[in-house]
Amino acid sequence: MISVFPETSGQFLINGEWKKTQDVANVINPAKATEVVGEVALCSETDVTKAIDAAEQAYKVWSRTSVEERAERMKEASQKLSRVIEQHVSLFVRENGKTIVEAKKDLLRCVEVMSKGADNLMEWWKPEPVEGQAQKVQIRKRPRGVTAVISPWNSPMILTFKRAIPAILAGNSVVIKPATYCPLTVISCLKEIEASFPPGVINVVTGSGSVVGEALCNDTRVRTIAFTGSTETGKQIMSQSANSVKKLYMELGGNDPALILDDAVLDEDAIKRIRMGILRASGQVCSAIKRIYVHKSRYDELIDKLKKEFDRVVVGNGIQPDATMGPINNQTQYKFVTELLERTKQSAAKVETAGRKLDAASWDEGYFMLPSIVTNISHDSELVKTEQFGPIIPVLPFTDLDEAVEMANDTEFGLRASVWTANEDTAIAIADRLEAGAVFHNNHTVFKDLRLDFPGIKESGLSRETRWGSLELFTDSYGFAD
Ligand code: NAD
Repeated sequence: MISVFPETSGQFLINGEWKKTQDVANVINPAKATEVVGEVALCSETDVTKAIDAAEQAYKVWSRTSVEERAERMKEASQKLSRVIEQHVSLFVRENGKTIVEAKKDLLRCVEVMSKGADNLMEWWKPEPVEGQAQKVQIRKRPRGVTAVISPWNSPMILTFKRAIPAILAGNSVVIKPATYCPLTVISCLKEIEASFPPGVINVVTGSGSVVGEALCNDTRVRTIAFTGSTETGKQIMSQSANSVKKLYMELGGNDPALILDDAVLDEDAIKRIRMGILRASGQVCSAIKRIYVHKSRYDELIDKLKKEFDRVVVGNGIQPDATMGPINNQTQYKFVTELLERTKQSAAKVETAGRKLDAASWDEGYFMLPSIVTNISHDSELVKTEQFGPIIPVLPFTDLDEAVEMANDTEFGLRASVWTANEDTAIAIADRLEAGAVFHNNHTVFKDLRLDFPGIKESGLSRETRWGSLELFTDSYGFAD
């Protein structure tokens, strides 16, 4: 039964027209796997070509629309979206599994991306004079063309909007491909705003990565790809995109370490921040704490306090206000994390499961997992080396700080990291040695100002978002001399 937003279910958008296909898949509620939340269209390669045709035509108009008008239209669109946030919260919870609080926060951040982006555009777009030249030189910007935005299932709203909105503001047209597991909120919210822009500026195609995603990456008319997802897919996209030397913005997987030093303050607030760093969205966050290295002198204390903190977690259907942690988003990921946990239990490691089931009677209907703390585990174990993307945390003691930094860096990933110490100078000195796109002191979170983000290094990604969000990624700057 399709019970919510039937008008968006199974739809995709080309050139301002909402379309449907015969070929669809169900979008499942991960808290109750028998419940179909809606349908997702399985678009064909022809649909993708048509979406790119539309985006190519729209680019000719939108790229020549004044910066003032682009900012105004975005502002208007952000107001439209802000008026419908409340009515999208439950849809988002039902298709994704987040709690109400998590879902609402993500939706509100999308509005912020739009309104702050619009506010900043004029200043950012200004030409920059280059001083001290024999000629009068300035750096100017222009948009790049058709942009593909490919997003994952874990935080589909913010990870679509954070890429697509700067691309549109910068004068590009976009073809968006949300993940098949939970595309409905993305599509419904885009439906609310797309008419603020000329037809074809925003296009949406859905379906599998191997058909729709690949067709987008193979098309030589797509000039930029903004991809957020796994490192494995990121590598495939890099090779597919070589045919036309596309500009790539890659936000990939992570295996973030938290280093807890002997002088760390481990009071109630700090433990809560550590728990949030691990268990936000049931651990399905690229930049979640995925391994902890704690000084031996604080090991027992940390485990004891973390266990008590994990015991307060109430796991259940995110739609129920008492749930503090929702289910795993989909069956494939659930199978992966539960099997990883099972293999860890079979090893010498000690697994302690904590937390409470909100509703034991309906537990088996969803992809629920209680959070687990794993001790007596080696740095070389599968759980420590893999991106678990679920509510399991390995905790390892260290005695030598240099060795701890070495273990933290001993990974192909380099997304984020955190250092927990009472001394800020020590934190900065260690941060300088950690291989990560961003390092937090006594926290493991996100930058509050949405214009700031620092994507991963090594196999966690490419590109920088600094003062102006990702606006600069979606433009080419050029020199003008007279
Ligand atoms: P995924 O790589 O499987 O899929 C991401 C998107 O790529 C989906 O829309 C998928 O359909 C599409 N896709 C798959 N194959 C493709 C191909 N060959 N060509 C083009 N598109 C293709 O990732 P996922 O399982 O949806 O998400 C979880 C992963 O994403 C984790 O590794 C997580 O760390 C990572 N992630 C990273 C960030 C970040 O900001 N660094 C944020 C969120 C998630």
